[in-house]
Amino acid sequence: MPKKAIEWSKIGFGYMPTDYRYTRIWKDGKWGEGSLTDKAEVTISECAGVLQYAQTGFEGLKVYETKNGDIVAFRPDLNAERLQSTCRRLIMPEISTEDFLSALDELVKANLDWVPPFGSGATLYIRPFIYGCGPVIGVAPSPSYEFRMFCTPVGPYFKGGVRPIKIMLSDYDRAAPHGTGNIKAGLNYAMSLYPGEYAHKLGYSENMYLDAATRTYVEETGGANFIFVTKDGKRVVTPKSDSILPSITRRSLMVVAKDYLGLEVEERPVRFDEVSSFAEVGLCGTAAVISPVGLIHTPDGDISVPSGMDEMGPVLTKLRETITGIQMGQIEGPEGWVHKIC
Ligand SMILES: *Cc1c(COP(=O)(O)O)cnc(C)c1O
Repeated sequence: MPKKAIEWSKIGFGYMPTDYRYTRIWKDGKWGEGSLTDKAEVTISECAGVLQYAQTGFEGLKVYETKNGDIVAFRPDLNAERLQSTCRRLIMPEISTEDFLSALDELVKANLDWVPPFGSGATLYIRPFIYGCGPVIGVAPSPSYEFRMFCTPVGPYFKGGVRPIKIMLSDYDRAAPHGTGNIKAGLNYAMSLYPGEYAHKLGYSENMYLDAATRTYVEETGGANFIFVTKDGKRVVTPKSDSILPSITRRSLMVVAKDYLGLEVEERPVRFDEVSSFAEVGLCGTAAVISPVGLIHTPDGDISVPSGMDEMGPVLTKLRETITGIQMGQIEGPEGWVHKIC
């Protein structure tokens, strides 16, 4: 199929409606048949659970064209499992991994000419989500739900090469209270908008959040997990916490560090006061893969990361090259990491 007439290397990270999206409704205690629709708008009750009580959760993953022309997704089974865990916490019906993957395949095959070409730097971003669409006025789970999955082409996160960013230590907590920090839900993002705007006004790209209970340990930013590299360049450290979102990129990078690069890996609580002892600091997530951090602003002075503001440090660079090589089909990944759609 011919690709859409788009200047792939020039697009940004924004929403562009494509031809089809997948939709499936849960009501009367069960899921109906899923199908594709060309309608980009949804019509719901003014009293829908999502509008009144923020009952909604989402996922984000990318689809790529590889060098030999295959269309693939990176570990989508883990997105399915994480959406199931989000649904359990928000009392929403779960979508099985099998149904999630067949919806993904159907969606992408219907929008094949929107998949950016190999080498363009752009990818097809997939946004699956589930929300309460039925009316609730007393606080309760919604009586009905929609599972929806749409896709939109997105450009390379860093135009003109990867640049280190400046972040700031936040006075706020990332997530809503009640222990919802480990689910991927709009309510956590809503909570991060105010501190996010505040950081941007001061000239910082992201907030570093500490654990809400003791403000001693590093958690994550609004939408990405931290990874740290020790000064000897031999060890990758990442925070262990029940209140951060378990990043699929982070989990994958820890395997790449150990099995592909021969590094030691450590998932453990990371005290904020040891951050200045690391050589490299990175943020990881699907959108940017790894963003290097060059500086962390704190009320007690700025922490300059030794790898600096000019470029990504050597260990993070190798990690990034290896994982993107696996995603783009240039390096053989571990069994089951690359899901071939067609
Ligand atoms: C999505 C997300 C991440 C990154 O997870 P990936 O699976 O690597 O994309 C990290 N933190 C939060 C809060 C997120 O919502």
